Amino acid sequence: MHHIAIIGSGPAGYYTAEAAQKQWGDDVRVDIFDCLPVPYGLIRTGVAPDHQSIKGVSKRYEAVALSENVRFIGNVMIGRDVSIAELQELYDAVVLATGAPHDKKLGLPGEDLQNVHGSAAFVGWYNGHPQFAALDPDLGGNTAVVIGNGNVALDVARILAKTRAEFAGADIVAHALDMLDTSKLSRIVILGRRGPHQIAMTPKELGELTHLSRACPRVDPADLPAEEEDAFLEPGQRKSVTHLRSFAAIPESHRDDKPIDIEFDFFAAPRAILGESRVEGVEVERTELKDGRAVGTGETYTIPASLVVACIGYQTSPIPGVPFDEAAGRFANDEGRILDGLYCVGWARRGPSGTIGTNRPDGFGVVEKIAEDAASGVIAQGSGGGPAGFDKLAAQRGLKVVEFHDWKKIEEAEVARARDDAPREKFVSVDHMIEAAGKA
Ligand code: NAP
Repeated sequence: MHHIAIIGSGPAGYYTAEAAQKQWGDDVRVDIFDCLPVPYGLIRTGVAPDHQSIKGVSKRYEAVALSENVRFIGNVMIGRDVSIAELQELYDAVVLATGAPHDKKLGLPGEDLQNVHGSAAFVGWYNGHPQFAALDPDLGGNTAVVIGNGNVALDVARILAKTRAEFAGADIVAHALDMLDTSKLSRIVILGRRGPHQIAMTPKELGELTHLSRACPRVDPADLPAEEEDAFLEPGQRKSVTHLRSFAAIPESHRDDKPIDIEFDFFAAPRAILGESRVEGVEVERTELKDGRAVGTGETYTIPASLVVACIGYQTSPIPGVPFDEAAGRFANDEGRILDGLYCVGWARRGPSGTIGTNRPDGFGVVEKIAEDAASGVIAQGSGGGPAGFDKLAAQRGLKVVEFHDWKKIEEAEVARARDDAPREKFVSVDHMIEAAGKA
């Protein structure tokens, strides 16, 4: 019997469990740990609340979770309740599928001013992550600056621009919906330090900006490269740039009934966040491209702003004793191997890139490595206590483990208390989740 512990119940974790089932069938026991009492990681707290079809992938993870040989062990924090070393004693292999939950820092003066948020915090706030539920961003000013040209920047800009009615069918949490209702924003500036050809935004997400009821995207035609140059882009990127071209062609008359401008400011690198105690503006330097890199031209200007959300990427949380690649912001690893018996997968392995589906081959890849190491004797097979050994340890420590059937009670309670037009109203505190699971 193979005993595998997976830390993290997001896509990378569940695809790894699925791969382990495919590899060993009934001869494997998998425990998937999560520090929250609820599963699915970024599917629950990262994917935008108005993208419910993407969240539908959790049904696939549920099928894995309900199998006989896979358990969800929620509400257990590795490093606080149980150490990695203890898990390594119990299981043949420990796989870190911990994602990249922390914001990369801008490294700019003023980034700690009030109402400057990283996207992990901001997205976590509107998605009801217990760690960020109390963020309380101030939406009372007229301009927000969203830094970055990736899909998260688009998510944030879109969420800031939508009306309450446009959240019908979404599982945005009530505290965020109520706060967004009070928003006075009329200008959302998306800052890109490079140009339209270098965006990391996908066509579908860009296209959504044209269907917003009170907001309209704006691109300065002067920022667009000559149209012939689009031919050198790969097809997806060409589609994205076609959207930008269509935004540049929107006539002013079309904006009359759209009080919110979503303005793409390209070749614009933030240099400082300005303000006394709260953010009052962003100092920006115009850039030009040299060998694909953004190089400052020396020309600067200030965008007055009362809210800044930096959507510039994420990093993994280091774990004491586990080799970490500081520059890359993820665990130091060789194709998923960190140390004998210790592996990583998904964003914890390769950094925050790709789609949800990218984690599937990742999960299968890491299981292949574990199988190789088991076959060559690098790791022992079934020699630790495995899941039964963990249960003993959890009982000794009095851990309040939330299992999958407990999560289903939480889910049921969230569905029962949902607004009429929403699939669920998430609990945003761990205590309330535990209570709903009947474990208080
Ligand atoms: P991302 O795609 O890596 O984009 C980060 C952006 O931040 C880039 O435009 C980057 O510019 C910019 N940036 C980085 N450091 C900066 C700095 N110091 N100053 C100014 N700009 C800076 O990251 P993300 O948007 O966080 O997305 C993470 C992953 O999740 C991606 O794979 C994304 O596609 C995925 N995702 C997908 C969806 C969806 O499919 N609907 C939704 C959300 C996220 P440079 O290019 O110049 O470095």
